[in-house]
Amino acid sequence: MYDIIIVGAGAAGLTSAIYARRANKKVLVLEAKSYGGQILNANKIENYPGIESISGVEYSKTLYNQVKKLKAEIKFETVLKIDEDKNVFTNKGKYNSKAVIIATGAENRKLNIEKEAEFVGKGISYCATCDGNFYKDKVVAVNGGGNTALEDALYLSEIAKKVYLVHRRDSFRGDDSYVSELGEKENVEFVLNSHIVNLNGKDKLESITVADNLNNKKELAIDGLFIAIGQSPKNEIFKNVVDLNEYGYIESLDGVHTKTKGIYVAGDARVKELRQLTTAVSDGSIAATVAIKEMK
Ligand code: NAP
Repeated sequence: MYDIIIVGAGAAGLTSAIYARRANKKVLVLEAKSYGGQILNANKIENYPGIESISGVEYSKTLYNQVKKLKAEIKFETVLKIDEDKNVFTNKGKYNSKAVIIATGAENRKLNIEKEAEFVGKGISYCATCDGNFYKDKVVAVNGGGNTALEDALYLSEIAKKVYLVHRRDSFRGDDSYVSELGEKENVEFVLNSHIVNLNGKDKLESITVADNLNNKKELAIDGLFIAIGQSPKNEIFKNVVDLNEYGYIESLDGVHTKTKGIYVAGDARVKELRQLTTAVSDGSIAATVAIKEMK
């Protein structure tokens, strides 16, 4: 019997583990893939207070080592189900605990075209707030038509020399107010009814090829591409113990509690305003502290 089982070894989950171990609780962290979560993909992190610059890999390693030093148990197993009695079933076994923190994050939706994975951190980013600053006075493109893409384009228009906003339709899913604001920006150009069909470059991204609905193609020379075509959380398996919103994020009234007593949520997996490293570690610390307080 563990005190706390944490599902997910990203920034939120590992922070929960730090807080729980420092309170001397028996902790198990379950992770399906590798530790670190989404922040592993960050080329450089330069918006984390107190750390001027660090790579995502280095940050994740340091965090993981911190958790190991505190003697949290970490198992690389895939969680398949959690029940109301806080039994956690994995591909390898069953564990029981007094509290469970779900910190499974969310994955950025991918374009699934050639060289996409290869150019991550070499011109391709899924997070303008994280990486925008690396493109000061450069030419960038944002792909997508939702609020994230529109906000990203606005944010980048203050940093980059030029921003192409590439969207597959001629109307936007995101708010009209953002669209109007973008329309007034001299350095923003809408590239509508267009799909990105090729990512070009040798060692890093140098240009994209976009095709319109009639398959007319053109090449745009850019330094950076921000892909903002939505995210997919991975919370379907928890549906029996938590409520999900229409996008699949976990609902919580106060950002910590789910609908099931003793089951908490932290990080990108939950409905929230801002999905960043700072908010993930904040969530992780709060979830563990609340769980410990409410533990019998
Ligand atoms: P989203 O609203 O789901 O929009 C995704 C966009 O990407 C859509 O325009 C979609 O095109 C496009 N897209 C999807 N798959 C694509 C593909 N394979 N290739 C090219 N384009 C593709 O996602 P989001 O912008 O991340 O926002 C998620 C939720 O958070 C939304 O509810 C949004 O309003 C909310 N949000 C709110 C704020 C805010 O209020 N300040 C800020 C950010 C996000 P189609 O339109 O053609 O489907």
